[in-house]
Amino acid sequence: MIRSLPAEPRRFQMFINGRFTDGAGTELMTRLSPAHGVPVAQWPSGVVADSEAAIAAARAAFDHGPWPRIGAAGRSALLFRVADLIEQKAEELGYVECLETGKPLAQAIGEVRGAVDVWRFAAGACRTMSGESFNNLGERVLALVLRQPLGVIGVITPWNFPFFILAERLPFLLAAGCTAVIKPAEATSGTTLMLCELLLQAGLPEGVVNVVSGRGAVVGQVLLDSPQVDMVSFTGSTTIGRKAIEASAQSIKKLGLELGGKNPHIVFADAKLDEAADGVAFGMAFNAGQCCVGGSRLLVQRSVADAFTAKLADKMRRIRVGDPLEEGTQVGALFDEAHMRKVLGYVDESLGEGARLVCGGKRTASEQGFFVAPTLLANVPAGSRLLRDEIFGPVLAVIPFDTYEDAIRIANDSEFGLSASIWTQDLTLALRAVREVQAGRVWVNTTLDNGPETPLGGMKQSGLGRDAGLTGIEEYTELKTAHINLQPRQAWIA
Ligand code: NAP
Repeated sequence: MIRSLPAEPRRFQMFINGRFTDGAGTELMTRLSPAHGVPVAQWPSGVVADSEAAIAAARAAFDHGPWPRIGAAGRSALLFRVADLIEQKAEELGYVECLETGKPLAQAIGEVRGAVDVWRFAAGACRTMSGESFNNLGERVLALVLRQPLGVIGVITPWNFPFFILAERLPFLLAAGCTAVIKPAEATSGTTLMLCELLLQAGLPEGVVNVVSGRGAVVGQVLLDSPQVDMVSFTGSTTIGRKAIEASAQSIKKLGLELGGKNPHIVFADAKLDEAADGVAFGMAFNAGQCCVGGSRLLVQRSVADAFTAKLADKMRRIRVGDPLEEGTQVGALFDEAHMRKVLGYVDESLGEGARLVCGGKRTASEQGFFVAPTLLANVPAGSRLLRDEIFGPVLAVIPFDTYEDAIRIANDSEFGLSASIWTQDLTLALRAVREVQAGRVWVNTTLDNGPETPLGGMKQSGLGRDAGLTGIEEYTELKTAHINLQPRQAWIA
């Protein structure tokens, strides 16, 4: 495991039609490690022509190439090979991810290993895809419902979990027989581009996967607009998700949207408070709070609110924030300086409104990096932006509630509906909450658990569609119905 900074930035290229290229532009983008302030990676800043070339390659590979036409066994075998190659490179991929994102090295390597598991799930699940037959429509007709690959998929990913989020989409669409153009976040493109080397080694036919680096507003927008792209799988902010919806109105393309969240933890008075405090601290601080499903609102039953706040603050003060390359670090740096200032701005604003700072609230660890101490606030006024906006940092406010009904009402009073965590020992209460809370993922007495078998996605303005699980492959297929006449035709015109 490498624990030192690179002597110079690692140089990456785009991947179009089976070849590495700098594309048609002239500009290079340089990523500074958000934890150390030194350049760690460079890639070309793509231009519109690069996205167009990538789309043309993916289109040709889908319309004429072998990938959608080979049997599932062939696709499955290749996806398993990719998984093996990722596993062999897990430490190197994790190192690059750590440098570009600022997350702890061990966490980054763990995410790569988690991605291997997702690739293997999709590789196996690939062979279970089937359609339906209807033999009950009467003597005359047999109906078949075929599941066919959807086509060219544009995949746009964010910077918080670049490799893992890609793994929740790419092997599934490949399993379905689709081809892809990927646009990773402009600041964290390294591991996506490294994956292309592994796809080549595994023998993926040219044009099946293409990666264009560069600015979302330039190269990403082309994917949203192009009539040659059949579907866009977009993971990112609700703001850019709206742009995807606007663009799709022109070309009527399918959208998968995984967007923002403002996810409640609901702690009932009967919960095991020590365990709940640990879980809430983990859920809010993991990945420096830059986790779409991380708990970012804390509802606590009033009778235990003070005791729970004290326990939680004690846990949060002990979270080890610092250099992501150092062993033992639990939370690394935020994504960049502007983001760090935005997060701290929310805290300052709420303090100005009369909120009380329980712990954190400031920059920490080192001035070279963008580290924020896990922050807990109390008495935040009801109308505060801190309680409604997705802050995407390690900031949480305690909101006391009185009854179960209050808790569900407050939890559901959000434009988002991504995830929720319920903490109680009362099984009936937990199951009622699972039913009634508006969220695509609900955890009971735990948080952030995950697995490729289970679908993920959001309700309300948190998104459209579901990734992972068998649904994750079905998302990238189209259903076609065929009615087949088995009898001589009864003449309509005598
Ligand atoms: P973002 O600003 O919306 O960017 C996401 C991606 O969209 C990036 O690759 C970005 O490229 C690209 N993009 C920007 N403008 C575009 C345009 N006009 N056309 C096409 N693509 C464009 O989000 P982010 O800041 O990277 O990520 C954080 C957000 O993602 C949070 O809101 C978080 O909740 C959400 N998220 C959701 C999930 C989920 O599963 N629901 C998972 C992870 C993250 P550039 O990097 O070049 O701007």
